[in-house]
Amino acid sequence: MVPTPITVRVPAKVNLHLAVGDPRPDGYHELITVFQAVSMTDEVTVLVADEPGIDVHGEGADSVPTGPSNLAWKAVRLLAERSERDPEEPGVRLSISKGIPVAGGMAGGSADAAAALLALNHLWRLELGRDELCDIAAQLGSDVPFALQGGTALGTGRGERLVPVLARHTFHWVIALDRRGLETPTVFGELDRLREESKPNRVGEVEPLLEALASGDPRQLALLLGNDLQAAAVSLRPGLRRTLRAGVQAGALAGIVSGSGPTCAFLCTDADSAVRVAAELSGAGVCRTVRVAQGPVPGARIVSDDRAD
Ligand code: ATP
Repeated sequence: MVPTPITVRVPAKVNLHLAVGDPRPDGYHELITVFQAVSMTDEVTVLVADEPGIDVHGEGADSVPTGPSNLAWKAVRLLAERSERDPEEPGVRLSISKGIPVAGGMAGGSADAAAALLALNHLWRLELGRDELCDIAAQLGSDVPFALQGGTALGTGRGERLVPVLARHTFHWVIALDRRGLETPTVFGELDRLREESKPNRVGEVEPLLEALASGDPRQLALLLGNDLQAAAVSLRPGLRRTLRAGVQAGALAGIVSGSGPTCAFLCTDADSAVRVAAELSGAGVCRTVRVAQGPVPGARIVSDDRAD
């Protein structure tokens, strides 16, 4: 019997704190970061097919590769190899429905890879536990384990070593999407260049932010949001300065570039305020489109399955 297709929903992330160390000998930067999963999601469906491949639909689908460089496809191949299937002909098709902006600093590709791992674990009945899946996820990319885990977490190393963080209450965000993406390596390169040229401010210690999350007070949290990559993203895309200003003028408590940008995330007092800020920001004409989101939300999870368990 052909197994029923399995669909996994997976969230985007924002980095509430992103401290970037100096480049390591392997070229990666040592990071201390706090991720929060927010309610902007992709859906990835895996199905058994004679003709393997990928279809992509939705937000920015045109700029997502449908060949071997798609991170979700790399996940398929890695898991096929691990489970002694032919990685060249894994016999599955992926259908990706994008709600997470592409190259937006919200880890959309990583999210799809995490979703593909979880979906295939069920489709192929591999019965790998969360820890094993997280190990495989870390081989695919620094942000992939967090997309599996979701919630709020402290990440160290390249961001792949995770510890869950207590975040009381739900936080309300307005997310401003830019017209074009920014490539993550370019933004890290720009930060290295800025640091050679001058000494841009670095974010402080992470502990006060962890306390603010535990208290659940958005006003306290707003004062502590920080991202070392922001200066680099703004240097490459100066218009972001205007977007960040417009969000605060519209009533947000604070705004921050998400990860490597160019998406900006604005923390709001409550759900009503987020709706008002989103409406005003969208009228200001400083970004392509605006979304309202909440966090934390769970990581990758199956939303359809043949066993309905
Ligand atoms: P991050 O925050 O993890 O650095 P990002 O959110 O800025 O990443 P992604 O949406 O993951 O960016 O896309 C980065 C690049 O990866 C894009 O240029 C895109 O072409 C490529 N890519 C590969 N696979 C995918 C995928 N499944 N979805 C989106 N982009 C993908």
